[in-house]
Amino acid sequence: TRESLSLVFNSSSRFGRLQKIKCAIAGKNLYMRFTCSTGDAMGMNMVSKGVQNVLDFLVNQFPDMDVLGISGNYCSDKKPAAVNWIEGRGKSVVCEAVIKEEVVHKVLKTNVAALVELNMLKNLTGSAIAGALGGFNAHASNIVSAVYIATGQDPAQNVESSHCITMMEAVNGGKDLHVSVSMPSIEVGTVGGGTQLASQSACLNLLGVKGASKEVPGANSRLLATIVAASVLAGELSLMSAIAAGQLVKSHMKYNRSSKDVTKLST
Ligand code: ADP
Repeated sequence: TRESLSLVFNSSSRFGRLQKIKCAIAGKNLYMRFTCSTGDAMGMNMVSKGVQNVLDFLVNQFPDMDVLGISGNYCSDKKPAAVNWIEGRGKSVVCEAVIKEEVVHKVLKTNVAALVELNMLKNLTGSAIAGALGGFNAHASNIVSAVYIATGQDPAQNVESSHCITMMEAVNGGKDLHVSVSMPSIEVGTVGGGTQLASQSACLNLLGVKGASKEVPGANSRLLATIVAASVLAGELSLMSAIAAGQLVKSHMKYNRSSKDVTKLST
């Protein structure tokens, strides 16, 4: 029964708790997709351990069953896959903000109507034309990769962690901008993996999410996921504004092709 599988799974860790198993059949083969809570860990090791226990238990119960591999790519880890975009993986986050008209003018140097139109034609329509899978955004993966490297996450998981749909609409009588990013597959942890490395753990400390949460296990990693989404939202606003204002190429020429010799600067 489901209860006995949960018992077997949960016995492998103080923090791993089985939530559900989604099954798909292909011919003679069964694919199982495990959903679990993992406290403040991203959970790859924890889930693998729990799943191994479940598989051992099932083989014992059904001796004619063959286990071909602990991972059958229905997870799906580090590959673009609709299952992550639709079902989510890791943490699913929606982050929204209202940007006042004067901020759009003075700081972003563009206007609300131009942003809304560009978002519709680029991030929604353009991505649809390109046949995007979770890529309905301007550059979520730039921000996800940077934050992942800085905070000791697994940067290879930026494939699905960067799935993001960016929405923009005019609000408050058309004056102000409502912007949101919806990201179903943010895979982060604040314990385990690269989070213990010196500079990465310093970064987590700076963000106030270092290590295991004392109050509620999982609170730190959930907060980190919201920080990732909020940073993506800021990045979307910045790049979309630069494109709407026609400054993308000009600013890259100015800042990206700096003639400064960086090696000399550091000595
Ligand atoms: P992952 O499962 O993300 O690969 P690790 O297995 O490297 O991470 O790290 C998780 C380890 O940290 C487990 O041994 C777990 O018992 C321990 N741990 C301590 N506190 C927590 C916490 N709050 N949440 C999750 N794991 C925790």
